Amino acid sequence: MAYVLLVDVAALTLTVLAARPVSARSWITFAVFAACAVAHLQASQWIERIRRDHSRVPHVDLCSIWIFAGALALPAPPAVLLVAVIYLHRWWMVGRWDASRPPHRSVFTASMMTLVVLAAGAVARLTGFTDGPPSGFNDLLSLVASGVTHWTVNTALVAGIVLMTAKVHPREAIGTAGDNLLEAGQLAMGGFVALGTLWWPGFAVPMVVAAVALHRTVLIHQLELAARTDTKTGLLNAEAWHLQARMELHRLAQQPGTRLGLFMVDVDHFKDINDTHGHQAGDEVLRQIALCLDGAVRRGDSVGRFGGEEFAVLLPGVDEAEATVIAERIRTQVHGLSVGAVGGLGVSIGVAVWPDVAEDTIEGLLAAADAALYRAKRSGRDQVQFAGRDRRQPWSPAERQ
Ligand code: GH3
Ligand code: MG
Ligand code: MG
Repeated sequence: MAYVLLVDVAALTLTVLAARPVSARSWITFAVFAACAVAHLQASQWIERIRRDHSRVPHVDLCSIWIFAGALALPAPPAVLLVAVIYLHRWWMVGRWDASRPPHRSVFTASMMTLVVLAAGAVARLTGFTDGPPSGFNDLLSLVASGVTHWTVNTALVAGIVLMTAKVHPREAIGTAGDNLLEAGQLAMGGFVALGTLWWPGFAVPMVVAAVALHRTVLIHQLELAARTDTKTGLLNAEAWHLQARMELHRLAQQPGTRLGLFMVDVDHFKDINDTHGHQAGDEVLRQIALCLDGAVRRGDSVGRFGGEEFAVLLPGVDEAEATVIAERIRTQVHGLSVGAVGGLGVSIGVAVWPDVAEDTIEGLLAAADAALYRAKRSGRDQVQFAGRDRRQPWSPAERQ
């Protein structure tokens, strides 16, 4: 709360301090930028809706072209007003329907962007980017310096709020390489818009088409993610898990002495849960078990849903003892779950550790883990069985420790 208020108050104070008379030409440029930004966002609305529905982490804002162009080509008052127009338009189009985004969030975002344009604009002015005709190399340096300022202030402010409100790794708060490339691409285009409008404000108009085209490319990443994900649980789907597993086995096969663990996990008597509590309760159980699996494995392990109530886990580098610990942790945590009226859950787990199980394909390892899983089912369920240990079953309590 203090951080948000601080950013809001700083934006307001600096805006007031930066007030000054503005030429008619700057107001015309402002009007052109505002019209272009609204046209761009209006034409990209459907893309934004898909992004919002599929993204759990904050994503790159695609207004930077116009905001950065404004920072460069406009004095502070219309540059800040442009930010206000863009975020007011956005709030009108999407925010007012979305209860999860109260108005103060839009105010905060607009305040952050106000600080960004004031900083980028100040650097542009300091480095000599002026209203006159373009001056070549000096303008290029100025563009780069302001672009870096825009990126730095924006990233720092966003990372600040993300780290304070969401449980993410600091690296995630800075955004992926792809996110940052997209932002840099927008800033480059914004720089060109600003340069063009030094000649004539109307040169900004064709960039609306370029902005919409760039906006469309973000969907590719979204679709990539969707193609890898099991929609019900958010885990990897079977194809993506297989791909990951094959790559991992191939990688480890080059390193002598390494191991790879593979679990097949099947929920016990799941059909009874459906029959007793209904399919929706069953679905919720699957989601909770998925969360449980994800929490019980190590960073770098891959959990996938194979369809139905079957899951697969890939554990690079584990030996039998470590595999036992992790498999037992999964079993114990599933025991502890209570999902609405459903409790007393159990899972059976079949484990294959490569190269102890001498299969050289993922399919071979899966078949071995599957055979162990069925042995666990036959031996009474709710237990862990290892492939290649047919004569020693099941684990004794002493071994579990
Ligand atoms: P076992 O202990 O032998 O594994 O018994 P089980 O009942 O868990 O296994 P079975 O294969 O007989 O039943 C699996 C059930 O899972 C049948 C199917 O209706 C249900 N199922 C499969 N996919 C889904 C799903 O996405 N949601 C829900 N709610 N149920 C599903
Ligand atoms: Mg089952
Ligand atoms: Mg099953």
